[in-house]
Amino acid sequence: MRVVRFRAYLLHLPLRKEIKHASTSRHESTNVLIGCELEDGTVGWGEGVPRSYVTGETPEGAIAQWQATDLAQFGCDCQNWSDVIKLCRAFSLAQMQDDPRDCYGNALRCAVELSLLDAFGKRFGEPVNRIVPLVAEAEPVRTHLEEVRYSGAVTAEKPFKEVISALKMRIYGFQHCKVKVGISANEGDRLKRIRQVLGKRIVIRVDANEAWPVDQVVSRIEPLLPANIACVEQPSLHEEVEGLAEVRKQIDVPIMLDESLTSMFDANAAIQAHTCDLFNIRLSKCGGFLRSLDLAACAQRHGLGYQLGCHPGESGILSAAGRHWATSVADIRFLEGSYDRHLLKDQLTSPDITFQYGGRARRIDRPGLGVSVDPRAIERLAEPQGTYEVS
Ligand SMILES: [Mg+2]
Repeated sequence: MRVVRFRAYLLHLPLRKEIKHASTSRHESTNVLIGCELEDGTVGWGEGVPRSYVTGETPEGAIAQWQATDLAQFGCDCQNWSDVIKLCRAFSLAQMQDDPRDCYGNALRCAVELSLLDAFGKRFGEPVNRIVPLVAEAEPVRTHLEEVRYSGAVTAEKPFKEVISALKMRIYGFQHCKVKVGISANEGDRLKRIRQVLGKRIVIRVDANEAWPVDQVVSRIEPLLPANIACVEQPSLHEEVEGLAEVRKQIDVPIMLDESLTSMFDANAAIQAHTCDLFNIRLSKCGGFLRSLDLAACAQRHGLGYQLGCHPGESGILSAAGRHWATSVADIRFLEGSYDRHLLKDQLTSPDITFQYGGRARRIDRPGLGVSVDPRAIERLAEPQGTYEVS
């Protein structure tokens, strides 16, 4: 069974509310959508979320990269999952610029890979999670979970709105909650207020989105300590990441890398320089399902923790892919994603796989990614960027 053509789109997903953090704010997410058609007519869908401040990609840049990519490499015959895994490992996107961290194109790579996995999964009648036992590199982190629990998040807002948002998290029964920091002048009081509303039981972690100069990180974290925070995500700019090794000696709160963790190159650099305790792995940012498995296994081997994160504005395609990953990977410290109905005004996919009360969500056992893309939703939300024949 071969791939005969791809279709590319820019997907414009309006958000229910503005999402604000230290690096940016947005009302809409523009994602890359790839449709992959097999010779029997089966179509699979993949999605990536290009964010220029993470991997350097823009949505338009991702389309230009796809237009420049050699499609003949997708023409091989795939009879089983091993062939598909081999294809996903082997394909390479056009090189558009110097890429020392091996991350430019990761969002596009994720979209292409997921479209292949979805298409062949549907063809084989098997869910995408079925590949995890077949990926040798994933051996240290394999598991099989029927249910997972997602985190809630409090983004930066006016104090009253923040209290309401934290109250919702508590009532909704989340175990974990992420709080965006790095915007307010008095972060200590803010965290204290949020902790009071959330109660003692919920595990709070904070994400600074690169807001703090590295020589101020310790003094910025100290006021947050009374709120009992479980970890601090990406306190400083990637350019200053090496300074975090010193921060870790001075403060007893685990540090998680996000913007500084996009590839195996980044992972190895972090391990060598002792800059973190945890990785924030996100499928789009890290180049897809397989490369994210590699990163989790790498963290595990080196005694680091990891979470599966998401980009706000992912459609049900990336939510489903995240679910397959999360129910197949052991020891995920925190889990983000599947916010679909809570975050998006309009849905691209069905059935609805938004997490339930308490952030609870079930394993998906339907073929492929297990969600269908509604053709009418494509018309409403997606801007066609061409059809690409695999000759
Ligand atoms: Mg982050």
